[in-house]
Amino acid sequence: MIVIKGVPASPGIAMGKAYILEDEEIVVNRVEIAKERIRIEVKRFKQALDATNRDLDQAESKVLKTLGKEHAKLIDTHRLILSDPLITKDVPRRILDESVNAEFALSEALDAVNETFEKIEDEFFRERRHDLFDVGKRLLSHLLKQEKRSLAEVDNPCILIARNLLPSDTVNLKESKILGFATDLGGRTSHTAILAQGMQIPAVVGLSDASHRVKMDDFIILDGEHGMLIINPSPEAIAKYQKAQLKTQQEEKALEALRGQPAVTLDGRRFEMAVNLDTAEDIKTVMGLRVDGIGLFRSEYLFMNRLEPPSEEEQYRAYLHAVKSLAPLPVVIRTADIGGDRLAQLGIDGPKNETNPFMGLRGIRLFLRHSDLLKTQLRAILRTAQYGKVRVLLPMISSMAELRSARRIFVAVQQELLAEGNEAAKKVELGIMVEIPSAGLILDHLLGEADFISIGTNDLIQYVLAVDRINEHVAHLYDPFHPAVVRILHQIVETARSKGKRVTVCGEMTSDPKAVPLLVGLGVDTLSVTPRMFLRVKQIVMSLRYENAAKLVARALTLADSDEIQRLLTDL
Ligand code: PEP
Ligand code: MG
Repeated sequence: MIVIKGVPASPGIAMGKAYILEDEEIVVNRVEIAKERIRIEVKRFKQALDATNRDLDQAESKVLKTLGKEHAKLIDTHRLILSDPLITKDVPRRILDESVNAEFALSEALDAVNETFEKIEDEFFRERRHDLFDVGKRLLSHLLKQEKRSLAEVDNPCILIARNLLPSDTVNLKESKILGFATDLGGRTSHTAILAQGMQIPAVVGLSDASHRVKMDDFIILDGEHGMLIINPSPEAIAKYQKAQLKTQQEEKALEALRGQPAVTLDGRRFEMAVNLDTAEDIKTVMGLRVDGIGLFRSEYLFMNRLEPPSEEEQYRAYLHAVKSLAPLPVVIRTADIGGDRLAQLGIDGPKNETNPFMGLRGIRLFLRHSDLLKTQLRAILRTAQYGKVRVLLPMISSMAELRSARRIFVAVQQELLAEGNEAAKKVELGIMVEIPSAGLILDHLLGEADFISIGTNDLIQYVLAVDRINEHVAHLYDPFHPAVVRILHQIVETARSKGKRVTVCGEMTSDPKAVPLLVGLGVDTLSVTPRMFLRVKQIVMSLRYENAAKLVARALTLADSDEIQRLLTDL
């Protein structure tokens, strides 16, 4: 049994025989083209371009059918590459100037573009070189009249192992018999990973040399949750994973019954249960869960992977879709929290090369510096108020001055919209994320200007404990059960309660089954959970007695050590 650790790209467990997709080596030779044949060579290249464009049309309709509009946008990236002058102009020029064959001219042009990609620091844009290869290979195979490798030949359920999978290969997986895939290359943000999640196919990437270590028909366990590939597992490992698979299936079935039921504890305390939304795409799933609202709409996705910020109209459409879909239930839209690990190119002087990006120009700090961005987003959000119940949430508030500045802009936008005849905008509430310790400590003051709060435990924990939330070297110190975390959470909830303001918790802690009793015991009003864990968390809430959970919190507040607090929770 060999266990290889990689990067978890799409969750789920898959078990089956390995199918190795051989790396395609396309050999391109330099061939001199006689002067009188050069025009024909250029024409041949143009025909290959047309054929590749037709491929993309086909791929697009396939993606549209199986995955929807948002994913079909990936094909646009390929179209963009295909229409780039570096391909459309540079290749014919090379053919003409150097009297070489189209294949050679193309591979030289691709090498040149690839060198530029290598130098890009931004991971997302660097990863786009896989798209470039994908398009380049399609073009080359048309020129060489080679059939592109097809996964249609895979006729038994299996686990696909490859050096790399291109997005165009991945698109075909939905209709294949493939149970999951593992690749040597690739990162979490690659389109291949994004597609796999959308298709709910378990995947692990970044496994370095796995494709050489696995042999055809080896038995494989692919653990997409933990990013593990197990080759020829022991009978014990197989049994363990089979059990885990079965358990998940049974649990998911049992949870179905909880859809639409109110989350009430055994002793009758009602909790509002909302979800966190990372992209508008998840709205369909969320509607199926029968949630009490969207507790956190992370709007950052609208700002990522592009060179300009989204327009007011584009944002308005996205928010309107959510607000209308959920109406009359509330949708809390957070203004974009760009910065930290979520960098975006906004066509402005944004955060760059910061030594401590999580302590840098992030969230409201960035949007107050570039208040036009904040204003545009607030207009887009507030315009939706006529169609449902929308609230605005400000990220990374650390002081009264920041909140006052943001509120001034908020009120100005409300007045502007009122003048435009939008009465509803006036009633929209403005809340703050409590995710920086200073905000927790001066919350009594902040609540004078904020209508509600949402506790962002992800950041709150990192700032209370000084543990970078994405640094694997200190991951063991990132501890939601640290007494300091419990104390500050308690203080925040109590302060809000004394001021009669509602409290939501929206960090990942709400989706950690072990932490749920603690949040219930603290007596928060709303838990905003990741959609995948929504029913499971509801089940936990419904199995608890609030009174006991509150006693547990009172006891936890006297303890000095995380282990002791965790022990209390397991004993509940
Ligand atoms: C948080 O910090 O807990 C939170 C929900 O915000 P994000 O994870 O988007 O920073
Ligand atoms: Mg946060």
